[in-house]
Amino acid sequence: MTEFSMALNEDQLTLQKWVHDFAENEIRPAAHEWDEREEFPYPVVEEAAKIGLYGWEFMFNAMQDPSGLTLPVAIEELFWGDAGIGMAIMGSGLAAAGIAASGTPEQVMEWVPQCYGDAQNVQLGAFAASEPDAGSDVGGYRTSATYDEATDEWVLNGTKAWITNGGIADIHVVVAVVDPELGSKGHASFIVPPGTDGLSQGQKYKKHGIRASHTAEVVLDDVRIPGSMLLGGKDKLDERLARVRRGESGNAQAAMQTFEATRPAVGAQALGVARAAYEYALEYAKEREAFGRKIIMNQSIAFMLADMATEIEATRGLIYRAAWLGKNGQFVNAEGSMAKLKAGRVATWVTERAIQILGGYGYTREYPVERWHRDAKIHDIFEGTEQIQQLVISRAISGLRIE
Ligand SMILES: Cc1cc2nc3c(=O)[nH]c(=O)nc-3n(C[C@H](O)[C@H](O)[C@H](O)COP(=O)(O)OP(=O)(O)OC[C@H]3O[C@@H](n4cnc5c(N)ncnc54)[C@H](O)[C@@H]3O)c2cc1C
Repeated sequence: MTEFSMALNEDQLTLQKWVHDFAENEIRPAAHEWDEREEFPYPVVEEAAKIGLYGWEFMFNAMQDPSGLTLPVAIEELFWGDAGIGMAIMGSGLAAAGIAASGTPEQVMEWVPQCYGDAQNVQLGAFAASEPDAGSDVGGYRTSATYDEATDEWVLNGTKAWITNGGIADIHVVVAVVDPELGSKGHASFIVPPGTDGLSQGQKYKKHGIRASHTAEVVLDDVRIPGSMLLGGKDKLDERLARVRRGESGNAQAAMQTFEATRPAVGAQALGVARAAYEYALEYAKEREAFGRKIIMNQSIAFMLADMATEIEATRGLIYRAAWLGKNGQFVNAEGSMAKLKAGRVATWVTERAIQILGGYGYTREYPVERWHRDAKIHDIFEGTEQIQQLVISRAISGLRIE
């Protein structure tokens, strides 16, 4: 096991600079346009694919780092550039992670690369779990998967809501109910390959923030997929369901560790947005004059910036430590959730303070801080809301089934 250290090694520093340069030169200049257009920024994602920032190899290499810090370091820089475009680049990773979490090695080898394509032919992945009537309450999913033994096919029916890349993705990973009596333990995940009949995009949401990231409903109407599209395979599913029916908990502990391990990376997204807004507000406060002096010379402004800097540093500390704990299987008190909870709140707060420091200019679309504020808020909502993180943490610290 590597020792925990906040100091980045040479590879991580090189990667940090590489992603930062891309964020500064390619993402920042495009951010306003794609936010206004509310469309998926294909040209920017294609540029990211050309340099190897969008692609399965990048994700694979980042995941190999034994310290766990490489991914959050890269993500912070990407989202410092822009969260909407950052999400367009990272969104396929949700599908890839879904396949990696439940798939056989053969399924991972076959389908993860197809979530990205290559620089000549960029492809997208989508991970479809949430439904119109069930987001936090995963036990409430209704999308069904029925096995047709005669044809060795699974038939999927239902509607998924709020899906990043939903309907425009090449590969959709769909979570569906195979045994409704078992609640959230009766789910399985399926790959829906490109061009499958019956899968279509429902409404595309018009969002508050991260508007360059595509979010839409996915409608599954008698979608027939081969038996081999069940992630993990049927024997493993049957064994797991039998264990649950016997009252054994299955691998709930392992699943919890997997969720916890992905949360520091989501926290790093929020951290990037917070840092962008803080840096901008600091520079602005040093330039802007009121009452014959720079506004930063007022303690009320300078202290706000001091608090923003402190919160950002504290958040990065939590994220790095949680990333290391996750990589080394060392979580004790849901530190992954703590990092994500803190990062979302800090990003929402710091970006709001940045608007305050810019005054009227901060409230207009001529300046980026109002966009950063809109973008920050999503981190209190997706990948587990603020309250769901609190639920996970309170259960971990108390050992009780807090409701
Ligand atoms: C831009 C965007 C992208 C997304 N991308 C994806 C994606 O790619 N794939 C995917 O599957 N999903 C995705 N989601 C869905 C997201 O994960 C859900 O929106 C989220 O889990 C919350 O679910 P909900 O919206 O149904 O809210 P609800 O679960 O209805 O929650 C509403 C409110 O009630 C609170 N609440 C709910 N239950 C409890 C409880 N037990 N205790 C205390 N408070 C509670 C919540 O914290 C929240 O404040 C995305 C969402 C957005 C907005």
